[in-house]
Amino acid sequence: MAGRLLVVEDEEHLAAGLKLNLELEGYGVDVATSARAASERLVASSNGYDAIVLDVMLPDLDGFELCRRLRDAGNFVPVIMLTARSAAEDRVRGLEAGADDYMVKPFSLEELLARVRSLLRRRAWEGRRGTTSSSVLAFGRAHVDFDTHEVTVAGEALKLTQLELDLLKYFSEHPQRVLSREELMEKVWKLRNYGYTRTVDNFIGRLRKHFEEDATDPRHFLSVRGAGYKFVPE
Ligand code: CA
Repeated sequence: MAGRLLVVEDEEHLAAGLKLNLELEGYGVDVATSARAASERLVASSNGYDAIVLDVMLPDLDGFELCRRLRDAGNFVPVIMLTARSAAEDRVRGLEAGADDYMVKPFSLEELLARVRSLLRRRAWEGRRGTTSSSVLAFGRAHVDFDTHEVTVAGEALKLTQLELDLLKYFSEHPQRVLSREELMEKVWKLRNYGYTRTVDNFIGRLRKHFEEDATDPRHFLSVRGAGYKFVPE
């Protein structure tokens, strides 16, 4: 099996279509039609899912809140949010709630499949990397343990998503080097020739918000005009 997925979507025809197509790709798929059903599934499976496809509009709780509760409970399973609106505010809300990626309805099935594959590849790669590489990063006022997900800034605990940690990890392994958006998409998101590099900019914004004393005057996550980004530990 390529992986176990939980699809949380109350529109039954859409849920059934997603289930069918994901199963054709080799995934094991469960469907939950409410946030409550999703929570029950997650408990019953001991969080045995490799990723969650999570619709924002659910009959009981919205997807943002469900995602936030998962993260608060220390569950860092990759989440792709499905939003009905393309409003930037919705995307930001999803990412701030701890989602790893989002898609705007109506989306192409092929793109969803590509993003699911990308999330699971990254996860497999994380697993393989094991404990051989250094898992602790200290810079500025920040201390980051990539194994335990424990992050503090000036002694205050922060919660980062898996993707934020992956991006930070990649920067920490390539300090002082200009990294293009395309390289970051390929190495961190595992998406080659993907084109949509604004995702990188969104995540840099999030890292700055987390770690910079003044996000408008960054000292660690620097923009290099026309080239990309550079991580400066000190
Ligand atoms: Ca829905």
